[in-house]
Amino acid sequence: MPLKKYDKILVINSGSSSLKFTLFSMTTKTVLAKGLVERIGGPNANLVYQRDGESKMTQGISAENHGKALAMACKMLVDPKNGVLKSLKEVNAIGHRVLHGGEDFSDPVVVTEDVKEVIKKCADLGPLHNPVNLEGIVACETVFTNVPNVAVFDTAFHQTMPKYAYMYALPQKYYDEYHIRKYGFHGTSHKFVAYATAEFLKKPLEELNLIICHLGNGSSIAAIRKGKVLDTSMGLTPLPGLIMGTRCGDIDPAIIFFLARKGLSVDEIDNVLNKQSGLMGINGIDSGDMRDTINAAQQGKAAAQNAIDMFGHRTALYIGGYFTLVGGADAVIFTGGIGENSAPARKAIISRLEALGCKLDEVKNQEVCGTAGVISTDSSKLPAIVIPTNEELMIASETFQLLATTLKK
Ligand code: ADP
Repeated sequence: MPLKKYDKILVINSGSSSLKFTLFSMTTKTVLAKGLVERIGGPNANLVYQRDGESKMTQGISAENHGKALAMACKMLVDPKNGVLKSLKEVNAIGHRVLHGGEDFSDPVVVTEDVKEVIKKCADLGPLHNPVNLEGIVACETVFTNVPNVAVFDTAFHQTMPKYAYMYALPQKYYDEYHIRKYGFHGTSHKFVAYATAEFLKKPLEELNLIICHLGNGSSIAAIRKGKVLDTSMGLTPLPGLIMGTRCGDIDPAIIFFLARKGLSVDEIDNVLNKQSGLMGINGIDSGDMRDTINAAQQGKAAAQNAIDMFGHRTALYIGGYFTLVGGADAVIFTGGIGENSAPARKAIISRLEALGCKLDEVKNQEVCGTAGVISTDSSKLPAIVIPTNEELMIASETFQLLATTLKK
């Protein structure tokens, strides 16, 4: 079985004005190099690049589109001084993060013309991401001829949700005609963390009930029953659920009509809910960053403290509901930039979970930062555990596994 055939896997995550890349060796499970092109299409595009174990380099480049951005990234990967490859021919496969797979994909797929059509079709559901994700794929097809591209969908892991969890109580015709339902996002992260938790607890994932809190700029919770997603807090779009950096999460939907009647246009309301709300809207310091919010609260700013309390209250509300729905959880898991690093944010949540038998260990909570570890007391019936996520490694592994099994057939 020539597994080596898929040793070097490039992972591409293309956003509206950025393209992130990570080159893995799957034999050694290491990152050879990674980087990002930012401000694509603008006058001040940048390439940030880092070889494994070395410091970051940043240089100004010209990148008018995603194709040019990829070309600049590739040039760096084969650069005689700073590169890690002799030739781009060493890249065996490419894994792409794609936001929305609709109801069509519950697993990664090798990209074909038909798959590209579905990604295009799903742009209706993910208008900000799917078109640029596709641009990343097309750019790779041009640069890397005869190298398989695999699409890994952010919605895929959540496709196990039962109908009673994913339907909205709207007239049925909107589901039938427009596919309006809950899809959920951060699926690649939730899947990685679910498996990593099973490894941490030394139990098969199929036997575990978990509540996974992915807390970053965007935040979502997944309820996992016997290893499968039962429910999640994001919906048709990444807007609902938890209080996020700049997104409001759950609100009374009638607020939208109320604001419209006050004279705001649909686009203005969209902007308010997605870009000016969440921590940014309420913490009084005009920043969507949790670190800034905590610093402001520590300096006595009441609005910032209230933002942290709201964040903790909302997250605990979901944990309580999901704990019931999964029939009692084996653990509640914290991941993402906030979940992995922010002791005060975790405290704001866990201090509200005592009724579930989850009690914070203040010392461990301070100690665990960016690594895996238990942060609840030994006597807690429901352990709270930090498990760092790694979406890029998950995409590389899924790409590798898909191609290795396709090869076997
Ligand atoms: P994204 O959703 O963009 O991937 P991240 O997962 O990187 O975001 O999370 C970003 C959030 O994590 C920010 O609110 C940031 O303040 C927070 N964060 C990162 N490191 C720390 C830290 N050491 N302490 C507190 N918050 C942190």
